[in-house]
Formats: sequence, structure tokens, C-alpha cells
Amino acid sequence: MNGDTMKETRKANPILNNQYHVSLNLNVRGLQESATLAINEQANRLIRQQKRVYKLGLGQSPFPVPQVVQEALRQNSHQKDYLPVQGLQALREAVAHYHSKHDCGHFNPDSVLIGPGSKELMFLLQISYYGDLVIPTPCWVSYSPQALIIGRPVVSISTSFENGWHLQPEQLRELCERDPGRPRLVILNYPGNPEGGTYSRKTLEEIAEIAREFDIILLSDEIYGQLSHSGEHISIARFYPEGTIVSSGLSKWCGAGGWRLGTFVFPESLKWLQNAMAAVASETFTSTSAPIQYAAVRAFEGGMEIERYLAHSRRILARLGNWAAARFREAGARVDSPQGAFYLFPDFTPVADKFISNNIPTSSELCRRALEESGVAFLPGSAFGRPEEELTVRIAYVDFDGSRALAASERIPLDQDIGDEFMEIYCHNTKKGIDLLCEWVDSL
Ligand code: GLU
Repeated sequence: MNGDTMKETRKANPILNNQYHVSLNLNVRGLQESATLAINEQANRLIRQQKRVYKLGLGQSPFPVPQVVQEALRQNSHQKDYLPVQGLQALREAVAHYHSKHDCGHFNPDSVLIGPGSKELMFLLQISYYGDLVIPTPCWVSYSPQALIIGRPVVSISTSFENGWHLQPEQLRELCERDPGRPRLVILNYPGNPEGGTYSRKTLEEIAEIAREFDIILLSDEIYGQLSHSGEHISIARFYPEGTIVSSGLSKWCGAGGWRLGTFVFPESLKWLQNAMAAVASETFTSTSAPIQYAAVRAFEGGMEIERYLAHSRRILARLGNWAAARFREAGARVDSPQGAFYLFPDFTPVADKFISNNIPTSSELCRRALEESGVAFLPGSAFGRPEEELTVRIAYVDFDGSRALAASERIPLDQDIGDEFMEIYCHNTKKGIDLLCEWVDSL
């Protein structure tokens, strides 16, 4: 691509109303480092300069990789051969079995594709599929940049706090009816990053019906599925099996973000797309790290120890997330209590006057000033596709020692409340960071 045409052109598509926003990128020059990774590096830089920073920016699991999975990695450190492009057969079997069990489907090992992180698989998908990318916003920071890097049109559908920041079936219908034959890839992500909510069964069924009617390819990013706080997660693949690709991996529920292992499960009808992605994989990353794939077999096999680990992780996250949401509401934000993952998406619009009179007109300025003045690192709503002037922010409530918290939680029966004192002791940095941030808001 030509260097002179490198700037992003953002224009409203004349065929769509204001609810939608279409972006098209002509090149990658000027592309910034992904916001989630940049905030982490910035926070670490400040810490190296002896500053006290509360790290609520990067969404990384606070919990350790379960012992049995760590042990499996140790036992497989000698694995050195290149593995099949689509993934280790034993792992594909374990993943297929895992999805068949959790998502009530009949997945077979041939339908599984393993990659070095689900993020990379998403990029391969976007390279391999020619349709528009349709994303409800707010949404995770990388879906849209990936499409823009490739030069695919991105259609953002704006959601609202009132609707739980979730795509409404009628919004999707309206978009599809404007150009029914248009190929589209729609991404759903729940439990959701950045808002920590989830979709009801009814909404999933309605979205599935529209997807079927308009032949949509649905990428259901369910990487936080096992971190649904209630322990119940319904995959939309149950209602639209023929057009849904389910994305997951080890990063979130297994505390192994740095291991970089992602999984896609395809329906038979999208075999051609899976094969195309595998071809691109074979020309780029070849195959995913061998020791990690062998260890992942153990993770996807599950069992008592992993179930217990998950039950305690969920209990801690639910308690902390609920406390944090209430604390933000006290400080004037509107925010729902979370239902999964480890994120909140507070909206400070109800107290916007305070921010504006303090020269804070945008969400990025809010984050910049809060980091400088209160030492709390977190991300602006604009990184998640929201308008700059909307005072929304994403909080990842993960700055605590998950090993210590898990060990303490295991001493308290699962049917008991862990209590406020638990959070004070074992989730200290997160609690302190949120208190400091809310006090800073109060002081404006
Ligand atoms: N998914 C995580 C987040 O939203 C971090 C990983 C990443 O963005 O690559 O913070």
C-alpha cells in the first residue's frame, strides 16, 4: 500500500443511519499499540520509577494456572517437534469433548483449530473471510483494529447502558434488512469485555434466528464462558449451530494468558473457512507451541481439581465485582453489577458536569488525569469503540495475588459468603485502587 494514502478514513456510510458507524482503513501507518497492552506497559514503567500504581488496565486473570496443568507442562517440556497446523490431535479431541459437554453440541476433533491465542485465530478469520465485520460497541479493543489492518469494512452498532451495553436483536435485523445479501461476520462476546454482562437465553435465541435468516457468520467469543459468575453459560452455538464459530482458549479461565493458546470450533458447513485459516496458519505461525498444547490437553480434560479452582475463582470475582460496582455507583457512575469475567464499564455521564468543569471532556483525558492524580491505571471507553466524549471507562478488577486469594477461599465453604474482610485482605490492591479512584472523582 502507498505511504501517501495511509491515514484512516472514517466516514458515515450514507446507507446507514447514525446508529451505525462504518470505518475503512487504508494502511497500518500510525496504528497504535493495542490499548490493553500499552496501559500495562505504561503502568509497569511507572512502577519501575518507584511510583505506586494500581493496575486495573490489562485484563489478565489474577489466578495461577491450576497445579495439574502446570504439572502437565513440566512433564512435556521435552516436546520439541512441530505439531500439525490444525493442532495436536489429543488436544483437538479434548477441546471437542469439552465443547460437546458444555455447549450441548456434537463437536468432533476435526472441527477444532488451535492457535497461539484466540486473538491470532480471529485475525486469521478476518483475513480469510471477505464479509463486513459487524461489532456491537463497546467491545474488546482488538476486533476492529484487526479488520482495519486488513482493510475490511467495520460496521459498529452502538449499544446503550439501558440495554446492558448489549446488541439488541432488532438492531441486527435493521442492519441486515438494509442489504440482505451482504456477507457479514458478526462478533458477539459474552460474558463480555468490557462490561462484564451476559446475554439471556431469550436474546441469544432471537439473535440466532436473525443470523439464520440472513446467513450471518457468527463468531461467538466465549473466552470468559467459564467465568460466568453463576457458573452457567449458554453458547449461542446451541441455537445457531450451522453458522457459529465458538472461540475460547486458556487465557482467562485457566489463568494462562501468557501461554498463548486459543481454540476455535467450527460447524461442518464452515469447513472451507477452517481450511482457509489453516492454510494461512501454515504460511505464518506454522503451529502452536508443542509443550503448551500437550499441557492444554490436561486443562480441557477438566476434573474435580479444575472444577474446584473455577468455583473459587468465580466466587471471588463475583464478590469483588459486586462490591466494585456498588462503590462506583456511590461515586455517581451508572454501572450494572457484573455477571461474569473481571470487568466493569462505569459510565460517569450522570456526573459529567464535574469532569467538564475540571477540564476533563473525554474518557481518555479522564484516564490520563486519574492515573496522574490517583495512581490508578485503567482504560477509556473510547478504546472500546465508544465516542471520546462519553465518560465511560473499563475497570479490570484483577490487581491482587490470585494464588493467595484462592488458598484463603478454599478454607471457607463454598456455600458461605467470603465477606468484606476477605476482599480487604486478599484483594487489597484492587479494592484500594477503586477506593482511591472514587475518592478522586468525589474530590473533583
Ligand atoms: N483481553 C485482555 C483485555 O481486554 C488482554 C489481552 C489482549 O487484549 O490481548 O484486557
